[in-house]
Amino acid sequence: MKIGILGFGRFGQFLGETISISKKHTVIAYSRSDYSDIAKTMKIDFYQSLPDFLNQGLDVIIISVSIISFEAVICSLKPYLELLQDKLLVDVLSVKNYPKKIILNQFDLDKYNIDYLATHPMFGPDSGWIQRPMVYNSVRITNSNRAVNFLDIFKEQQCIMTPLMCDEHDKYSAKSQFITHLTGRILGNLDLEDTPINTNGYNSLLSLVDNTCNDSLDLFQGLYHYNDETKLWLTKFRKSLDLIEKQLN
Ligand code: NAP
Repeated sequence: MKIGILGFGRFGQFLGETISISKKHTVIAYSRSDYSDIAKTMKIDFYQSLPDFLNQGLDVIIISVSIISFEAVICSLKPYLELLQDKLLVDVLSVKNYPKKIILNQFDLDKYNIDYLATHPMFGPDSGWIQRPMVYNSVRITNSNRAVNFLDIFKEQQCIMTPLMCDEHDKYSAKSQFITHLTGRILGNLDLEDTPINTNGYNSLLSLVDNTCNDSLDLFQGLYHYNDETKLWLTKFRKSLDLIEKQLN
């Protein structure tokens, strides 16, 4: 298949490089910034014009832009809806109800026969693919061979294939991924350092800070603002800290 990655930042490059190395599919990329040098090292053709990119006979378009820019990016595709006709659209955002709502509101999927797979690969450049969950929800799939072919990329990288409704995903991820990023960011503000007497637990905390603070602030803000469940967990986190302070005193 010919796969286009729209949004060639940290995660888009990570996905693109692995898919391109497998040599089973041709990968091309588009981004608002110029990543042509990086793309060349990955043998990926890079486009800086959106219509040129969309005109390359793509089977699949993976949207890998930040959560907070997603709506604007989807709106920027509207003048080119005919170029999306008969394609499989995949979003990889770390929240799931929000992109589904935007796509269903902005695009007439039936009119243009656009298939749409909402996904969240629960991994990234710091964790690798193996034995990591690949969450997906087949929102509109008419060409099942193409969708299976796409999902096989993740199966072949030994991901744990996890079909899940978007709202279930957001409930789980608010109390797992968001809490992880929140803890990592809070500890990141403490400037923790390596010591000559690190315990295993402390080493785990240092890796947590590294893993979460390596991701962009846009990603963290997106996790918070575009998943309704996270507000509750921030409040619970604060209450728990108060409770612990009381127990200590
Ligand atoms: P990010 O900061 O969430 O997104 C960066 C990408 O968004 C870049 O491609 C950037 O394009 C694009 N972008 C930002 N603002 C834009 C705008 N106004 N207009 C057009 N494009 C814009 O970092 P990321 O880690 O690469 O994540 C990309 C997506 O993958 C996110 O939705 C994230 O939730 C999801 N995801 C990430 C991970 C991970 O481990 N990092 C894992 C699973 C899913 P330019 O660079 O060209 O400016």
